[in-house]
Amino acid sequence: MAAQKTQAIVIRTFPLQEFHKIITFYTPDFGKVKAVAYGIKSPKSRLGGSLELLNHGTLLFQHRENRELQNITDFNLIDGFNAIRSDFTRITYGCYFAELVDSIASEGVANPEIFDLLRTTYQSLVHAVDVPLLARGFEIKFLDCAGYGPELSRCVQCGSAVTDAFFAEKEATIGTRSIAFSVRYGGVLCGGCENRDGAAFTIAPGSCELLKMLRKSEGERFNRIRASTRNHKELKRLLGNFIEHHTERNLKSLRFIENVL
Ligand SMILES: [Zn+2]
Repeated sequence: MAAQKTQAIVIRTFPLQEFHKIITFYTPDFGKVKAVAYGIKSPKSRLGGSLELLNHGTLLFQHRENRELQNITDFNLIDGFNAIRSDFTRITYGCYFAELVDSIASEGVANPEIFDLLRTTYQSLVHAVDVPLLARGFEIKFLDCAGYGPELSRCVQCGSAVTDAFFAEKEATIGTRSIAFSVRYGGVLCGGCENRDGAAFTIAPGSCELLKMLRKSEGERFNRIRASTRNHKELKRLLGNFIEHHTERNLKSLRFIENVL
């Protein structure tokens, strides 16, 4: 048993009996950490209030190898992202990001990029102009960090470049500039290969370009990006299908966003 100290974000909380809670953290050093907060619901608890969902802080815990549940020693709050909590749309998306990380990330596998992405996305969420677009940005960056990022520039079947020349030729021959995307093969398909996946669907080249832009934009630059209704619809479908393929889980918070927001 070793005492460990790491930064952490609370990505899930679950009640355990009357006074305890099981908390899932995402940490840069240990990946996902699941731990029991004993007595947290008692009025005398030192940790009461600090372990709310999305809170970012410094976690001290007793690390026991091969144990599913660790023991929390202390948690010192750094940022509670209070500006997100007062806005229903923003907090709902915040919960979705946490659930998405929980659904793909593994316990004990360090991935500091995912931690930084989650932390900076919560900071951006406070001032995001277009919250659903920020969500699409989070999704593509998260897939990249997790090693599942889609290929957007080359055909995933034959490797040929899917470029402006390709779109111009397609428009000249069949009168459309749309581009086929295959979830199963993990990216775009050229004209010669687009029939290889019967489940592939088409998106506008503009949506594909926008996705490339979301992949590398942050902060103020991100807030200057504008998306049409069509872009929004296509990217939501594309990334949603892609995430479902890799998580094999129905994300509750995403369903809530679709039904309520
Ligand atoms: Zn091809």
